[in-house]
Amino acid sequence: MVTVPRVEMADVLELVNTYGRVPRATAQDQGEGYPALSAVMADNAERFPGTELEHLQALADEAYQVFAAAHEGGDVADRVNALLAPASPTPTCTPECGIEWEVADAADALRAALGVALLDFLHTRGAERLGTCKGIRCADAFADLSPSGRKLFCSSGCLNRHKVAEHRRRAKASA
Ligand SMILES: [Zn+2]
Repeated sequence: MVTVPRVEMADVLELVNTYGRVPRATAQDQGEGYPALSAVMADNAERFPGTELEHLQALADEAYQVFAAAHEGGDVADRVNALLAPASPTPTCTPECGIEWEVADAADALRAALGVALLDFLHTRGAERLGTCKGIRCADAFADLSPSGRKLFCSSGCLNRHKVAEHRRRAKASA
């Protein structure tokens, strides 16, 4: 059995938004290439073997579905379970009585790590804190850690571009 490395939500987002076909197509920057996993998940990349680009894209697309379902009010649990199922992570109790997940095949470690990170986030914070950006030419996944929990944009850059566009639209409408 292989221990599934713990990954932070920030790493999940980085992976989903770097390799996911929807975020990249929406940003129209697929032509700019795809960095190696080591550039995306600095601390963990070497613990995930078998990470060819096609595999990363497919996994990112599956994980993105969780954020898209949260955004649309769809079945988030279904998407997380679909992500986890092929890896069949098994919970084990550590000597310190913590939870550690294991997979039979090291090639499934990244899938399991993404699924477990999303599962952890969902049961501690809830699906309403995951979503996809409403920004202009942006569909990036985000996790909302703000006190209000009403985030609609992935970044302040996207929020500001949206505000400027809204301002222009109103100015035009009243002219
Ligand atoms: Zn955005």
